[in-house]
Amino acid sequence: MSIALITGGNSGIGKATALLFADRGYKVAIAARRADPLEQVRQAIEQASGTAMSLTVDVCDAKAVSRMVEQVIAQWGHIDVLVHAAGVMFSGTILSTEEDDWDRVININLKGTYLVNQAVLKHMVERQSGSIVNVASDVGFAGARNVAAYSASKGGVVLLTKSMALDHAGQGVRINALCPGPVVTPMTDDLDPEERSQWESLLPMQRFGTVAEIAEAAYFLAHAGYTTGSCFLMDGGNTAGGAL
Ligand code: NAD
Repeated sequence: MSIALITGGNSGIGKATALLFADRGYKVAIAARRADPLEQVRQAIEQASGTAMSLTVDVCDAKAVSRMVEQVIAQWGHIDVLVHAAGVMFSGTILSTEEDDWDRVININLKGTYLVNQAVLKHMVERQSGSIVNVASDVGFAGARNVAAYSASKGGVVLLTKSMALDHAGQGVRINALCPGPVVTPMTDDLDPEERSQWESLLPMQRFGTVAEIAEAAYFLAHAGYTTGSCFLMDGGNTAGGAL
């Protein structure tokens, strides 16, 4: 049976991706910070006759990340697919971004990607097999207003992904970035309705994406056999010239 590790697997895009992979026959290890929602997703997968394990982790903590990966390997032997969806959003221009906020966003989104990818990649390179999908963002692909730290962190994820893809393409491991535009998840829940409809009206497709759409893209990228180092945009046309 194939095995997927999905960070951020207790909420939003990560949760939808975990449910989809489980539905398609994967054993799914879900990891995130909060134990209760993780346990709910694990139970939902098992109630639908899937196999899941839940692991609490802070992706900024190197030891905890290593432990997470070792636990999956110890219990299930290997990891075929990593979908790294853990991340945080932060709004602000560079002038309104305090140093603490900058550090937090870069640590979780960029350093977290480095730590999780490094820990999983070691095992994939040993097996000469594996596929990694890093969830970045359309604002990691093109600049955007009022998300300076977030955009910088996601731009870093895109280029880290491309560089790792080059380093490991000859070792049986594919590494791609998925760049969603705005998606309906807890991350975008706190937008006030007026701001949201204004944003939607600027999007070429006039709506936010759904987690089901993004999960399908993650599944596609994980299995797209001749694809590595790509940055797959699923943004309702946003970066073609929309609301960014
Ligand atoms: P979400 O808030 O529902 O999920 C974020 C997940 O990340 C949660 O499971 C949370 O526990 C986990 N997380 C946060 N910090 C962590 C840490 N330090 N250690 C471990 N886990 C941590 O949001 P979402 O919208 O599902 O976001 C998933 C990914 O998609 C993020 O990387 C986000 O930047 C990206 N994204 C979201 C949108 C959007 O509009 N929602 C658009 C583009 C990209």
